[in-house]
Amino acid sequence: MPPLVMKFGGTSVADLDRIRNVARHVKREVDAGYDVAVVVSAMAGVTNQLVAWCRDAAGLHDAREYDAVVATGEQVTAGLLAIVLEGMGVDARSWQGWQLPILTDNAHASARILDVNGGELTRRFQERKQVAVIAGFQGLHKETGRITTLGRGGSDTSAVAIAAAIGAERCDIYTDVDGVYTTDPRVVPKAHRMDKIAFEEMLELASLGAKVMQVRSVELGMVHNVRIFVRSSFVKPEDIDPRQTPPGTLICDESEIMEQQVVTGIAFSKDEAQISVRRVQDKPGVAAAIFGPLADGNINVDMIVQNVSADGATTDLTFTVPAADYDRARVTIEKAKNTIGYERLDGATDVAKVSVIGIGMRSHAGVAARAFKALSERNINIRAITTSEIKFSVLIDAAYTELAVRTLHTLYGLDKA
Ligand code: ASP
Ligand code: MG
Repeated sequence: MPPLVMKFGGTSVADLDRIRNVARHVKREVDAGYDVAVVVSAMAGVTNQLVAWCRDAAGLHDAREYDAVVATGEQVTAGLLAIVLEGMGVDARSWQGWQLPILTDNAHASARILDVNGGELTRRFQERKQVAVIAGFQGLHKETGRITTLGRGGSDTSAVAIAAAIGAERCDIYTDVDGVYTTDPRVVPKAHRMDKIAFEEMLELASLGAKVMQVRSVELGMVHNVRIFVRSSFVKPEDIDPRQTPPGTLICDESEIMEQQVVTGIAFSKDEAQISVRRVQDKPGVAAAIFGPLADGNINVDMIVQNVSADGATTDLTFTVPAADYDRARVTIEKAKNTIGYERLDGATDVAKVSVIGIGMRSHAGVAARAFKALSERNINIRAITTSEIKFSVLIDAAYTELAVRTLHTLYGLDKA
């Protein structure tokens, strides 16, 4: 049997009872014959607490020490799960990032994985079928010998990287929902779970606001073609029929998806802010004067709309930034006022971005036009639009987010029957 990676998030390991439940899921796969590598998150809430302690200790702290602190959450869970598995008679041992090792760059607090050494895991699979319980979220920067972490939600990425390294048949992501939905079911009760979604689509969904998986993990899955199965850890292991495909969503190559719909999902994000620079000169160099300083300040600009000048001399330029960067972005533009040359700065934080995603858009025309019409019929004003090959996004007043999402969900036939 090929190896299998099973990843459990924070709510799935929230206490010892939940960890025992996880252990039974692991045993189920071991009994089915798999060589299992388990990747665990910190117990729910633990990472937040660790982060808060670092902030309390010093507002501006050394990112290397932050990593030393926050990496401990996963260490605890990995050890506990190994203990419980041993108690159930399953040969298991815990591994930390530096022990395998999982090598990363030195971007502390958001490090990227460079290499995973799965050699020892494979040897132990073959020798004694030992289950590997691996602390997610953490790695090692080899040159300095220091512990790194992969950014919030990073244990998804650990799991996919390990799956790639050991040639796993699949990477199962166990979480508190039973898969990926066409949109947030709390907003649209008619949202339904997708059986399959292509890597590209999942990448857009995750980047545009769906919080199921860390964006980088999907990226990595796409690059290494690791099939990822999102499923619930809240199903009792005893209730799973091994002859049936369990409920969940498979994230896979688009060639594996037979019935491709034009639109597969709708994402939204309220963490957006809009800035409009009024009456800038319509001449070369102005966009550079605006976006250069923002980039230097590490502010991520998303949507950009520039009007064609009416008088041939001046125009308006509108863009969005993450709401958390709104004040900083305004100050940056105000500081650069002399080099940019504009009349006035307007802004809004009560805006939301709604995005429609689907690989089918590559081959179907007019998909976005239908949305514009449907939104106008609901009197929802569109402030800005961006499009790419497989998605489009509209910026609207935040108060209309739910209405817009529901309208589009129905429009594209995503409502569950
Ligand atoms: N424990 C880390 C976090 O809360 C990593 C993870 O759970 O994926 O962000
Ligand atoms: Mg997570």
